[in-house]
Amino acid sequence: MAKKATHEQTRIHNTQLVFSTIYERGEISRAEIARVTHLTRPTVSDVVAELMDEGLIEEIGHAPSTGGKRAILLRVDATSRYLIGLDLAREDFRGALIDLRGDIQHRVTLPLQGHDGDAALNLVYALVDTLIAAAQRPLLGIGIGAPGLVDAIDGVIHQAVNLNWRDIHLRDLLEARYKLPVYMANDCQVAALGEYTFGENNRSKDLVVIHIGKGVGAGIVLGGRLFHGNPLGAGEIGHVTVVEDGEPCQCGNTGCLETLINNRGIVRRARALAADMPQSLLNQLVSDPEAITFETVCQAFDAGDEAARQVIYEVGQHLGTAAAYLVGILGGCRILIAGRFLCFGQFLLDAIRATLTRRSLAVLAQASEVDFVSLGGDIVLRGAAALLMHHELGLFPFSR
Ligand SMILES: [Zn+2]
Repeated sequence: MAKKATHEQTRIHNTQLVFSTIYERGEISRAEIARVTHLTRPTVSDVVAELMDEGLIEEIGHAPSTGGKRAILLRVDATSRYLIGLDLAREDFRGALIDLRGDIQHRVTLPLQGHDGDAALNLVYALVDTLIAAAQRPLLGIGIGAPGLVDAIDGVIHQAVNLNWRDIHLRDLLEARYKLPVYMANDCQVAALGEYTFGENNRSKDLVVIHIGKGVGAGIVLGGRLFHGNPLGAGEIGHVTVVEDGEPCQCGNTGCLETLINNRGIVRRARALAADMPQSLLNQLVSDPEAITFETVCQAFDAGDEAARQVIYEVGQHLGTAAAYLVGILGGCRILIAGRFLCFGQFLLDAIRATLTRRSLAVLAQASEVDFVSLGGDIVLRGAAALLMHHELGLFPFSR
């Protein structure tokens, strides 16, 4: 029995090794695979035949002649499988069909409309149902970026306050319903994986992604591995207190970072500043300060309004303080901002950087970088696909 299990494990290992080698190289011959993997030629041929039977790889013609017989090149057929990626940490639920290169082929957005609890769970089913109906390829599985405290190993959302979810065994529920493998992690961690895997910062071994969705948190990749926390909860910077006796937070504490930079916090500050600055465009865009929304702030910011810029500068200061904590713990690092604040551009980055410089050791601040992620708004969807590909196909050596 034990021997058989070992043989099966070896087979899976070899298959994943050959597949990931083809994936990483783009185009490669059987002989070259044998050379770089140290597998025997017959083993490589067997595995390649199996992967071709499954349609995962294809032959694409001959390599340029090097004198002898011209080798046949292989590559991954990127659209041979689709992956379902879900981003459940926004104002709406988003899902996509994603190919094996991490490119989005089809997307679906369902508005939450204030639903929580079971109604929100039913919306997840509706999202997956819609995606499955649209898929014209075999599905590899489902990857999820979920809000709140997520146990990635057991597939449980322990607490997602916004959705009024507690101890939701989302992985088991989805696996039972769809008979597909399901993997999940916190949205910030998934965002970090997405950037690490598919971003322009490709495989920079250490990076921190501060993701601003409904909440705020950090995903941390160290030495090419995602740092989960033990057993969960790494990077929960949103609930670090930045103002003593500040506004109440939905976590139960007061003055958390999240209370200052979430929609409500931004709007609250904008209304206060608008009252102090009668000339502000904020007052001209709406009938009275109480009607100011996040969108009003964005609009006034785009027009160069002083009060709106002040609001965003302060958001940058709060994020800079969080960045300083991270740099103080991790050392100089690459901090990338993802999520809703991309629209505030260089102005926001400069504010973050200025505060980081003021609040950390000069040498650590100098060794750090602050920038936006390269993947934009799809970062969680594509990160969810990376998580799934890692577990199912042995790609991207980033997990613990
Ligand atoms: Zn809090």
